[in-house]
Amino acid sequence: MKQKFLLSTTLLSAFMMFISISSVAQENKLNSPDSQLSVTLNLSGGKPTYSVSRAGAVCLENSPLGLKMDFEDLTQGLTLKESNIQPVKDEYSLKTIKQSRVTYEATEGVFQFEKDGRHALDIIFRVSNRDVAFRYVVYPKKGRLVGVVQSEASGFNLPDGTTTFLCPQSKPMGGFARTSPSYETSYTLDEPAGKNGWGEGYTFPCLFRLPSKLSTSLPPTTSLPPTGGAGEGLGEGPWVLISETGTDGNYVGCRLLNDGGAAYKIGFPQAGEMNGVGSTTPSIALPAATPWRTITVGPTLKEIVETTVPWDLVQPKYKASREYTYGCGTWSWIIKMDSSCNFDEQKQYIDFAAALGYRSVLIDALWDVQIGYERMEELARYGRSKGVGIFLWYNSNGAWNDAPQSPLGKMDRSAARRREMAWMQRTGILGIKVDFFGGDKQPMMQLYEDILTDANEFGIQVIFHGCTLPRGWERMYPNYVASEAVLASENLHFGQGACDAEARNGCIHPFIRNTVGSMDFGGSTLNKRYSADNQHGTYRRTSDVYALATAVLFQSSVQHFAMAPNNLTDAPAWAIDFMKQVPTTWDEVRFLDGYPGKYVIFARRNGDKWYIAGINAEAKPLKTTLTLPMFPAKSEVTLYADDATLTGSVKAVKLNKKQQLSITIPQNGGLVILGK
Ligand code: CA
Repeated sequence: MKQKFLLSTTLLSAFMMFISISSVAQENKLNSPDSQLSVTLNLSGGKPTYSVSRAGAVCLENSPLGLKMDFEDLTQGLTLKESNIQPVKDEYSLKTIKQSRVTYEATEGVFQFEKDGRHALDIIFRVSNRDVAFRYVVYPKKGRLVGVVQSEASGFNLPDGTTTFLCPQSKPMGGFARTSPSYETSYTLDEPAGKNGWGEGYTFPCLFRLPSKLSTSLPPTTSLPPTGGAGEGLGEGPWVLISETGTDGNYVGCRLLNDGGAAYKIGFPQAGEMNGVGSTTPSIALPAATPWRTITVGPTLKEIVETTVPWDLVQPKYKASREYTYGCGTWSWIIKMDSSCNFDEQKQYIDFAAALGYRSVLIDALWDVQIGYERMEELARYGRSKGVGIFLWYNSNGAWNDAPQSPLGKMDRSAARRREMAWMQRTGILGIKVDFFGGDKQPMMQLYEDILTDANEFGIQVIFHGCTLPRGWERMYPNYVASEAVLASENLHFGQGACDAEARNGCIHPFIRNTVGSMDFGGSTLNKRYSADNQHGTYRRTSDVYALATAVLFQSSVQHFAMAPNNLTDAPAWAIDFMKQVPTTWDEVRFLDGYPGKYVIFARRNGDKWYIAGINAEAKPLKTTLTLPMFPAKSEVTLYADDATLTGSVKAVKLNKKQQLSITIPQNGGLVILGK
């Protein structure tokens, strides 16, 4: 009897053990609310890894997790102590991104790890219907209340055969006045994985397309078959966008390094950034949560375009000191350069803004010398009399590069900055554009945060230029507007090559750079040439309708367009009329069609008004039939379109009974459709 009893308890405990192991194994898988996207956390030999799949197909193979602290290696020797998986839901409003009201639903998994019997690390996952995100929480150890993160193991092992769409990280202290890196390099498209950029990896966000073999079971989410397929042997499967969000002065801005083949990993800043000052590694006060790593996955580019993951995972860091407003503005520098930042021409641009019904003028570098503070106060009064506010340019320097433009030394230290901002508040300055930052090290991320925080106290909106990518900042900092972090319109002035490639680049940003953060591009030029007399300088290759379409496609809540006062008389009246009423804030975005570098067609909604906008970079005219469920069947819409010579016109056209419209966009041309 006794033997039998022993046997059965052994069996019972074995059975119990089996139950608990299998339940732990089960708990390590998180499914999205719609069960399409899932993450599996694995622990093998004390090393945590994760994999991602969508509709049963592997999107990320087993990839490393964890980080190395200066006091402890948290990539190995870990035991999973506890895991909690629960649904999370958040609703928020944000006027300054692609979608004004967001309902975020996800499954959260908090995995608590012990090292040497002590609770040392949490790995937190979130899985929504289109995004996976994870971050770490590091706990103190034996009186160690701060720690240096020496490296992150965080990896992204994409399947073999993945195609890449990437922006190389530049080396530090290069480019104009040794101002790099500032996220201003050319994308490489449709390339196989395996390279490491120019040797320094890639700036976020990074877009990938998986090989077609993974996509066979995936239902399409759009009625439009992708017409711009990749080349022979390239991926034709799901799309994956990797980025990060929630980065502030508590961490460094990261990049993506190639780790061999189609494997990538998180990289920290380069030692030379900030003129060599400051560490490449973040120091964090414990317990500390690291920024989120985000992975957006979709069977088409719809999920990539429509994701709100950069804002879903962050919270406001302070309250807005006033109700900030948004809209369009004028900007002389892009056509007329530094010498135009004088009193008389800025007065003209205030009049130009007033004529367009715009709310602001952006006055660029050297205004402190060429206009001066007293006369700036006079300009501000003049602007107020016309209903036009002023954005003022500042150099962020400082001691991190040789950018000589003034005002200098006003933004890098708190006392001078707050004195300047108090003057702005007295003068009624609306906002600032701060340029020429020094990389992604922790003190530089702290400077971004300090400028934003101080500016909010004085009711000032902030645009960054020559800078890093924003990482959730629209929601974290209510007075944050946009960042450059792209090869922006200035390059169209500086070189014909950029003009020749304008449409190609314009067809990249909506899918990559601009989908994770507001982009200060400064586009929609209506001059034929980039010069004050419209007779000299680089030639614009793109059409007037292209200029209108990019005003919709490129998202930023404040847009200082590259139009010039002469456009009131030398540009088509329909183009000026469109630019007078184009919104800068949006309630919704929908991907309709496109392919990075080839063409793009989006729909954006402002209130009850839909704007359909498209551009084409391909030599072959884009001919397609759009299904537009936002307009009634057989309804009349207004179509802005180009003919084969890129001459634009506006006409009323009717949708068919299936709410469809056949359209053609020539190379370097555009398209805009508005409901009646
Ligand atoms: Ca720039």
